[in-house]
Amino acid sequence: MECVSFSPLSRVAICGGTHGNEMSGVYMAREMQKQKVEKAGSVFITTVLANPRAVDACKRYTDTDLNRCFTDALLSSPITDSTSYELRRAQELNAQLGPKGSEEAVDLICDLHNTTANMGLCLIFYSLDWITMHIYKYIQSKITSAPVRAIQLDIPISEAYSLESVGKHGFAIEVGPQPGGVLRADIFNMVKEAVDLTIEWLQLFNSGSTFEGGEVEAYTLTKSVDYPRDPMTNEITAAIHPKLQDNDFKLLQPGDPIFLSFSGKTVKHEGEELYPFFVNECAYYEKKIAFHLARKITLTFPSVSVKKD
Ligand SMILES: [Zn+2]
Repeated sequence: MECVSFSPLSRVAICGGTHGNEMSGVYMAREMQKQKVEKAGSVFITTVLANPRAVDACKRYTDTDLNRCFTDALLSSPITDSTSYELRRAQELNAQLGPKGSEEAVDLICDLHNTTANMGLCLIFYSLDWITMHIYKYIQSKITSAPVRAIQLDIPISEAYSLESVGKHGFAIEVGPQPGGVLRADIFNMVKEAVDLTIEWLQLFNSGSTFEGGEVEAYTLTKSVDYPRDPMTNEITAAIHPKLQDNDFKLLQPGDPIFLSFSGKTVKHEGEELYPFFVNECAYYEKKIAFHLARKITLTFPSVSVKKD
């Protein structure tokens, strides 16, 4: 594959508090604002506390999930008296960091999240973003304190619903396990290391380094699994099975236990072998998701370097 050149990536946004109770991003963004981190060499840094009202309340959101509001349709929908706080905020963020899909958009958005699932550090991104894949490979080669994985969401960018889709390039950093409203130093340090490595990579890229192409493994979302429910009341009738709990990304084979019902019955996985992730994520109970299932894929990407004029 030939080398692909990109314009300098000089404007980056580091965002936290998109979900107001995911504390690593909240404190990372606040700390960077306190230290007035605005520039690192060739990189201009904007730090954003994305959902301040939810952060104040220490809740994921106040009216609706902000990180589902960044589709083209929602970003262009008219504001009325009944528009949710989060959709107003999404349109403000789109004006500040985008507009999504335009030349004026920031070069890269890195949005910081926590999960209650035992997922280590994951970069989550849409489609085939070669810049993000290079940053992923760089972070993965440097961080040794936890597994570093990539999750690719196969969704067209117009329908991409999360904040990082507003930038020309972007990804979410998802780190766990950490309960909502809780700050753990080990998790915080991992997030900080990933942010520092991202900025370091951008500086190296802008200064003319060529990054060799190659391959990375990624997990691509195949389907979501809901909890078993009482057909009358719709309440859940089972919990994640102890053999699945904390085993995110461990291959699930047909017959492996996935739920343990409150009456003691084991529910087994049926169908093809897939990789579970976001296992028992606290915020997904309301979305009727007990865990996601992924297929493992190999992504090939070319060498990249900065465009010289
Ligand atoms: Zn989140």
